[in-house]
Amino acid sequence: MKPDSPILLQQYWALRELLPEQHPEYPNISNYFRRQEAGQAGEDNLAYYLDQAQVPYLSCIKRLRLEHHSAFQHDWLVLGLGFRVIFEVKSHTGEIYFDAKSHQLTRIIDGIKEGFEDPLLQVDRQYANLRAYFTAHNIDQLPTYRFAVFVNPNAILRLHDYPEYQRVLTSQRVPTILENLAEKHPPILSKEANQQIKQFLVENHRERANSILEKHAILWDDLHKGLPCPSCNKRPMRRERMRWQCPFCRTRSTDAHHKLLYKIALLSNNRVTKQLASRFLCMKSPDAVRKLMVRAGFIKEGANKNAIYKHPKLIPFY
Ligand SMILES: [Zn+2]
Repeated sequence: MKPDSPILLQQYWALRELLPEQHPEYPNISNYFRRQEAGQAGEDNLAYYLDQAQVPYLSCIKRLRLEHHSAFQHDWLVLGLGFRVIFEVKSHTGEIYFDAKSHQLTRIIDGIKEGFEDPLLQVDRQYANLRAYFTAHNIDQLPTYRFAVFVNPNAILRLHDYPEYQRVLTSQRVPTILENLAEKHPPILSKEANQQIKQFLVENHRERANSILEKHAILWDDLHKGLPCPSCNKRPMRRERMRWQCPFCRTRSTDAHHKLLYKIALLSNNRVTKQLASRFLCMKSPDAVRKLMVRAGFIKEGANKNAIYKHPKLIPFY
């Protein structure tokens, strides 16, 4: 199952909100979050151009992650009736050129030179994985083209020396590329068969869900405790007579805890305990916390002391 927005992006969003700005890891987390966000925006940007292509029965899948021996991910996979395309999306800005000496893509932004992975090597590797995956699942192979697409209009591509410059595009060229490929490759599959393949792939999407606190060596102790007020954002709100009350601006809320519990679920790999939730909500009674979680739709797993509570929206990914 595929979530609307990548779990990893949501995790970095949650961590950035809960990590104090003075924490040494904060700039790094903020950076990760922005990169994930830019990646997502880049993928979304291409959707518009895919839609413009005048090719009947194209099925397009965004951010498909499959597992076969190891995991691999396509930014966009386009399934035509006679051909397929994998697009690797790049949201870089600045001047991008090919350095024939180092055989590397380089970009210059504000006078700073920076090398990055060759996107065509990346997308060709993905294709090798996809081919093996299709063979393993008895899915018909079709001619499959691979492109790197620079979606940011502020990117300036200087790739005349790049041996395969024809496979490096800006998003505006995508509709024409697809139309030309459709002309060259008449349908082999029926639209029903193509639809079935799409459905199979989407059902077999495996979302990436990491333990990001561990990855960045951040402790629960490092994070902000207390429920922030939805109006003035100060912490903590107090629990009074079955409601949350802000001691600073007097705002009251009945459901302000939902967002915070969701963040804790994201950061705990969906294993929230009563103790953990009590610490974040600054509530002394674990039983009252348990009731709050159950009423918020959390599903209990395990018994008594070892019980964990799972957010229903995240269950498919953990
Ligand atoms: Zn307030």
